[in-house]
Formats: sequence, C-alpha cells, structure tokens
Amino acid sequence: MSTIFSVPEKKPRLTLVGAGPGDPELITVKGAKALQEATVILYDALVHPGIFHHASPRAIKRFVGKRSGLHSYTQDEINEMIVRYALSYGSVVRLKGGDPFVFGRGYEELAYAESFGIETEVVPGVTSATALPALKKIPLTTRGMNESFWVLTGTTSERKVSNDIFLAAQTRATAVILMGLQKLTEIVEIYREAGKDRLPVAIIVNGSLAEETVLIGTVEDIEAKVKEQNIHGPALIVIGEAVRLHLGKASCNKGFDFSDAFNHDLQPVAV
Ligand code: SAH
Repeated sequence: MSTIFSVPEKKPRLTLVGAGPGDPELITVKGAKALQEATVILYDALVHPGIFHHASPRAIKRFVGKRSGLHSYTQDEINEMIVRYALSYGSVVRLKGGDPFVFGRGYEELAYAESFGIETEVVPGVTSATALPALKKIPLTTRGMNESFWVLTGTTSERKVSNDIFLAAQTRATAVILMGLQKLTEIVEIYREAGKDRLPVAIIVNGSLAEETVLIGTVEDIEAKVKEQNIHGPALIVIGEAVRLHLGKASCNKGFDFSDAFNHDLQPVAV
C-alpha cells in the first residue's frame, strides 16, 4: 500500500461494533470477540468502561466522544483518527453505543475508511430504541393495538424538532424518540394538537444502567414529572398505548451494577 503512514504488521481493518444500550452484557457474542481481537478501540461517551472486560488489557483504548470538560472530537477528526490508527496498528474497533447504524453516524466512518482502501465490517448492536422499552416490559407492538413502531430523533441536524414527529402523532404507532428530552415541550405540544393528551408516555433515563430512572405519565402530565426530577444522562421517550402495558413498578427495576466492573487504564495514546 502506498501511503505516507508506516506499514503496520497487520492488515488495516475497521470493525464497527455496536456496544448495546449500556449494560455491558448486552453486547453481542460477535461484538465481544471483535473487542478481544482489537489492537485499538476508539469508543464513544455512551459506552460504559465495564465493556472493556471483553478487551485485551494491552489494547489501546481511546475515548473519542463528547463529555463535558474534555475535548470533543468533530466527525472529521474521528474519521481521520480511525484511518490513522488502522494504518499504523492494523485492527481498529470503533465501538458505538447501541447499534452503530441507528443515529450513530457509523456509515460515514465506514465510507471514509473504505475510501482509503481499508477493509471494513459491521457488527450490529442491540439498539436502545428497542432494548430499553423491552427491559421495562413495554412491548413496541401488540396485536390489535398498533401496526408499527417508529424510531425518531427529537432533534434534527438543524437543532429543530423533527417533522416526522407530526406524522407519527397522526398514527397509532408507538413512537420511540431518541435525543428528544430537550424538545419535550414541542413534542408534547404536537401530540396535544393531535388530540392525544391522555396518551401514555414513558421516559427512560440511563436505561439498563444502575442509575436508571423511568418516568411514566401521559402527554398531559409528563413535562411536570420531568421537572420534578433532576434528570441527567441519555433519555429515551416512548409514546403510545403500548406504554400502558408496562408491567410492575418500572422505576424500581435497576439495571446493571458496575461497582465491580473490570477497571482498565484508559489513558489516551498518541500516534
Ligand atoms: N446508536 C444508538 C443511539 C445513538 S443516539 C443506539 O442504537 O442506541 C443517542 C441517543 O440514544 C441518546 O440521546 C438517547 O436518546 C438514546 N440512548 C442511548 N443509550 C441510552 C440509554 N442507556 N438510556 C437512555 N437513552 C439512551
């Protein structure tokens, strides 16, 4: 290969791996194997360190996500880093929360690496969109109740509320809204205008983790419930009759306890 980079011992390779929604036991067997074999792991903010239990202690583990107080990388910087590491070290795992192709910009990273002739592979992940409602025993579809579920972003790339939410609100579909908490006022307004004030809503915060919080309400009262709580962390909004079926007192169900999770040194290594 003719590049300006040093020739790696192993063939450059990018494996895009879905880490699952939080609980490190929700990575796939194939994803865990990819971690075991990786020389370099570039990971995001939604990936819990407990997942490095599956990786070699010798692997270079580098955080490339957004976290307050730390430098946050642009997509261009991440793309370049993937290529640089793959060409210098061989096998790179790009570890992303949930599934890498669900609001994960995974395809952009794949296409960029391929434009450098780097071999790529995708190991799908368990997306938060389906896993978190399931963990709370909220069925996304139920015979006779609905015919579809929609996975939507609450916030578009222009930082606006997605127009698709207006469309979803016209249907009986279960709406699963990611990145929507900052737009909750607008989302509630859209459902109210569609005459759905009494429709059940669940908000799952830090789903599948020990610090999980679940709020159950209706379009009418969910905002007040959110204001009562001091919510921090990623949140999923589920709207639809399906939420009525959730079993038990969801807020009492705790997720994975990381207190004894494997503790790796995650120092960044420059290349
Ligand atoms: N690729 C990911 C989604 C990335 S977008 C996936 O398939 O799950 C990031 C958004 O996903 C968050 O803002 C939040 O809406 C949702 N999310 C991811 N993990 C979550 C978690 N553990 N708890 C609640 N929401 C989560």
